[in-house]
Amino acid sequence: MENKAIASNFIRNIVIEDLESGKHDHIITRFPPEPNGYLHIGHAKAIVLNFELADEFGGTTNLRFDDTNPTKEEMEYVEAIKEDVKWLGYEWDNLCYASDYFEEMYERAILLIKKGKAFVCDLSPEEIREYRGTLTEPGKESPYRNRSVEENLDLFQRMRAGEFKEGERVLRAKIDMASPNLNMRDPVIYRILHESHQNTGDKWCIYPMYDYAHPLEDAIENITHSLCTMEFEDHRPLYDWFIRECEMESQPRQIEFARLNLTNTVMSKRLLKQLVDNKIVDGWDDPRMPTIAGLRRRGYTPASIRNFCREIGVAKNQSVVDTQMLEHFIREDLNKNAPRAMAVLKPLKVVITNYPEGQVEMLDAENNPDDPSMGMRKIPFSREIYIEQEDFMENPPKKYFRLFPGNEVRLKHAYFIKCNEVIKDEEGNVVELRCTYDPETKSGTGFTGRKVKGTIHWVDAKHAIPTEFRLYEPLILDDEQDEDKSFLDQINSNSLEILQGFVENNLKDAKPQDKFQLFRHGYFNVDPYYTTDDKLVFNRIVSLKSSFKL
Ligand code: ATP
Ligand code: MG
Repeated sequence: MENKAIASNFIRNIVIEDLESGKHDHIITRFPPEPNGYLHIGHAKAIVLNFELADEFGGTTNLRFDDTNPTKEEMEYVEAIKEDVKWLGYEWDNLCYASDYFEEMYERAILLIKKGKAFVCDLSPEEIREYRGTLTEPGKESPYRNRSVEENLDLFQRMRAGEFKEGERVLRAKIDMASPNLNMRDPVIYRILHESHQNTGDKWCIYPMYDYAHPLEDAIENITHSLCTMEFEDHRPLYDWFIRECEMESQPRQIEFARLNLTNTVMSKRLLKQLVDNKIVDGWDDPRMPTIAGLRRRGYTPASIRNFCREIGVAKNQSVVDTQMLEHFIREDLNKNAPRAMAVLKPLKVVITNYPEGQVEMLDAENNPDDPSMGMRKIPFSREIYIEQEDFMENPPKKYFRLFPGNEVRLKHAYFIKCNEVIKDEEGNVVELRCTYDPETKSGTGFTGRKVKGTIHWVDAKHAIPTEFRLYEPLILDDEQDEDKSFLDQINSNSLEILQGFVENNLKDAKPQDKFQLFRHGYFNVDPYYTTDDKLVFNRIVSLKSSFKL
């Protein structure tokens, strides 16, 4: 069951205070992705936080595309983000685009100029950086800082009209070049970009910078609590400055929390895009990707991701969460909800020599031993079956309880079989086993005559469905994220293993995204991309067991 209540956290406490004090009677949050890539599990943390916080207190949440940088943004990403938020189970109250506010942002910039709080600067980007100073030295004022209001208004209007080239001029806030906070040293608020925008087309050739745009977007939408990640903590004074100086009617409060980091992966659209562009993975939804689309295709359920996000909680201190914790939540979900089935990933043929030729019997098996309501199924059994290559050893070590010459094991849901003969090819590889079965030992009949130590799984050779299995390892090998080393050097070149095996015929109508627990192998999802009418392809979501404890 899903534990809907989010744990108490410092942001929730602020909201409670603000409601109790009467500062707000209705809270409004927003999830504001930039459409420059697909959402990842880190975004899920922000989505769960914003939507569930508002929901708990009867508030509302906007999905807002922070589309102020036309060079990196695309319609494909806008659509993918909407799909992912919905799939995670959240409904936005308003769908907003920052670009819809470009006119108002421009008007507010005019206001800043008129108040003497903004100026057009002709320094080059390199010069602006040089003049900015460092943490220990104050910056230098731009020679253009004291332009008259009239000149600034004229130049800014001409910037908008497209009279200048990119980089030729910018609009800057006039704050304090000696501020210990570098963000307050006359930050750039508008730059020239002769680029088409996915929403506004060619209407604009000046675009607002994030630090200017974001507080205005929040204020325009009457956001009460604007939640963002810790790297914006130093930007908060600037956020508040813009709200005040632009004379916004509404005063949103920015609150920062730690971003989610996971072991063995990277968590940034920019880096994930490099994996896609360099064809290291097969697209944004590759099952190895930490994107929502990748997790979905891998077989994660929305509930497992929501539960994970609730469990990690919200705090200010940075930490790296073990990917095994995410895996814990999908196991928990699928252990309850996924039907069981048998599959052989690396097949070895077994002929049961004393089983009548041409005979097929249907054996009973429960779909979930923990949950009788999931019902029973029938599994065909006949003279030829496949078992796992790993379940046979010609010369076994001590304590090997599976099949070896002369040994008897239990076939899950079927009979005891005993290995009598090993058939090899010319190179000495084992290609077939000859066994006998004991009809007395049929599963479910309460046979107690003797015991065997090993139980192995199998599929019937004639009825089983040829299936491709895709097994995954972490994409990034080393968690020591070395700053000097590109993460591309840490790619695990063995992150995908493809096997051709079989599943029991009950899975013949399995549909993309159907999930199963394959006995002894783990939880699997029918891949929606590679599966066709003629070919079944399974992604392993996770193996069955882990030593991880919550
Ligand atoms: P990326 O570097 O992956 O592009 P971002 O922060 O630039 O991340 P945005 O599209 O701007 O991505 O993010 C939308 C929202 O998601 C922001 O409020 C941001 O703080 C939040 N967010 C992004 N990454 C994480 C993360 N790893 N953990 C928690 N929240 C995150
Ligand atoms: Mg970003």
